[in-house]
Amino acid sequence: MFVDRLIHTLKSVIIAPTCPICGRRLESAESFVCISCQLAAPFTQLWHKEDNVMSRRFWGIVPIERAAAFMWFVESSPWRELIHEFKYHNHWFLAENMGYWFATELMRSDFLRDIDLIVAVPLHWRRRLSRGYNQSEYIAAGISHKSGIPYCFDAVKRSINNPPQAATQYIDRWQNIENIFTLTRPEALCGRHILLVDDVFTSGATLSTLAQAILKGCNGNVKISVATLAATRHLIDK
Ligand SMILES: [Zn+2]
Repeated sequence: MFVDRLIHTLKSVIIAPTCPICGRRLESAESFVCISCQLAAPFTQLWHKEDNVMSRRFWGIVPIERAAAFMWFVESSPWRELIHEFKYHNHWFLAENMGYWFATELMRSDFLRDIDLIVAVPLHWRRRLSRGYNQSEYIAAGISHKSGIPYCFDAVKRSINNPPQAATQYIDRWQNIENIFTLTRPEALCGRHILLVDDVFTSGATLSTLAQAILKGCNGNVKISVATLAATRHLIDK
């Protein structure tokens, strides 16, 4: 992680940074996305309302305190491309920057109230090795950096390397992810309010399964909220 950061810092000194959404060269006062693109971003604003379309997706499945995505995952949107960039093309620093920005917005609301710890949805070690990193860890690190809430990356692991969710049919997802998470350090989680962080919310199946594993491992003595960078638009159509 340190070497990656060093290379990224050197690159940003040598090459003038550009906005990853519109490609325009950034002004010195602009952070990683230009002001025009920031203003036009497809924010969900879900973090301002506890009873929202995303938190309702968990009803009857697992008790979740609060749930919000930062942006809608709109087809052919450059924001969608951005998420693909950091997921598949080693642009982890975009994930961290997006996490930092997301936390800035969350802190303008009540969303992070009484959250004790941030936990990223883990990848199986084999997939983490082939990709070289877990993008959700960088999102979590960005949220933690801005909010000051500590993050913990070693309390839960993915024990089963199930096929990528994107490659499975919606209907199969629930069968595909049962019992895939194991708590390695339950004492780090139990009795706390945990914010689970992932990149994209689609069916909510992975996050529900992780939340269930944590609740079970703590005998119910834990509170869980959920934050993702993006949510697919079909959420609001159901
Ligand atoms: Zn731009």
